[in-house]
Amino acid sequence: MKNNTYSLFSEEMLLQMYTEHVDEIRELERELDLIGAALDALNESEDEEPYCTACNGTGEGQYDGSRCRGCNGSGVERREED
Ligand SMILES: [Zn+2]
Repeated sequence: MKNNTYSLFSEEMLLQMYTEHVDEIRELERELDLIGAALDALNESEDEEPYCTACNGTGEGQYDGSRCRGCNGSGVERREED
C-alpha cells in the first residue's frame, strides 16, 4: 500500500493541480517577500542597541579600571525596570 494517496492521482492530474495553483503559490511567495522585507526593516530598527551614551558602549568608566556609572560596565544603557 505504498503511495496510496499519490496513486489516486495520475501524474498528469498532479501536474494540472500544480499548474492551477502555481499562480497562488507565486502570489503567496510575493506576499511573503513583502512581509519579510517589512520584518527586516523592523529588525534593523530594533538592532540599534540603546548603548550607554556616557561611555559610548565601552562600559569603561572615567578612569582606567573603573566601570561606567551610567551602565555599570555593561555598555548598554539601562532601561528602567519595575
Ligand atoms: Zn556606560
